[in-house]
Amino acid sequence: MVILPRERPIKEYLLQAAIRRGFPEMKDELVRIQQGLAGEQYVDRSWQDMQLDEEFYLLHDFSTDTHQIDTLFVCEKFILIVEIKNIAGRIDFDERCHQFTRTLENGNVQGFRNPLDQVRRHQRFLRQLFPDLPVIYVIVLAHPKTIIGQIPQNEPIIHCSGLEFYIRKLLTMHKARLSTEQLQRLQNELLQMHTISNPKLNIDKDKVRTGVLCKQCDYTTQMLFQYGRFICPKCQIKDDGTMLQRAIEDYSLLINEWITNIQFRKFMRVNSIYAANRLLKKLNLSHKGDKKGRKYFISFKRNSQINPRNHK
Ligand SMILES: [Zn+2]
Repeated sequence: MVILPRERPIKEYLLQAAIRRGFPEMKDELVRIQQGLAGEQYVDRSWQDMQLDEEFYLLHDFSTDTHQIDTLFVCEKFILIVEIKNIAGRIDFDERCHQFTRTLENGNVQGFRNPLDQVRRHQRFLRQLFPDLPVIYVIVLAHPKTIIGQIPQNEPIIHCSGLEFYIRKLLTMHKARLSTEQLQRLQNELLQMHTISNPKLNIDKDKVRTGVLCKQCDYTTQMLFQYGRFICPKCQIKDDGTMLQRAIEDYSLLINEWITNIQFRKFMRVNSIYAANRLLKKLNLSHKGDKKGRKYFISFKRNSQINPRNHK
């Protein structure tokens, strides 16, 4: 059962907003994040098909101030840290110098942060918190074509297709240590520890492109405010409210979660204070302060969870 569903990372929304608004150089990082996410989703699906006799609980993207774990598998016998890597090509680990490399078909070699160092750090952390329970880790390769080259012996680095077999083996190797109540308490403790991070991008806010941008034109044109509506000068489409919503969310992500009427007018390129008031009202934002000092709060909501709670 999934007790902590995976959500699209805030960083993805931040990067998408930045790319729309004058920072195209962030595309590489976005691609990297999306590849990682695709790998995680691929592995997430394999849990759904798994037929295990024992109850297990999954926490995806489990995060504390200091640790971020792709998936935590919790059962009455142990806690398993699942580190997911979505990497094409051939991978090699050199344990001696803690070097982890990927070699593409064209011979291109890239270095990566050693995932073993990462999972061992998570392991130490959880062992301290839960000394009575075995804390194990596994590195799962989501990309079916990854070739596993030289890796240290006895380290659990497996393809996603072998995950069920691996879990079954672990379940037969370990004995039950927690009662149903204790397992429930462990889940609650973990859920309470989980914190949602609020990353920010290090960008020059003065360089953020302003305006309501036309989605139809792939955010290349700035819409004009005429007769109470935003209209695209290129494709003539009229905003039904979604493009203004996107613009205010971009403002929240890249500049500030709070906005005043004057800041709104400057960013959305609306001259009239009254028109701005009307638009702000329509956006239905909570606010504090009165008259000129009034500030509106832009709460940013992620679209949806990637995997629903309570499926198995
Ligand atoms: Zn347009």
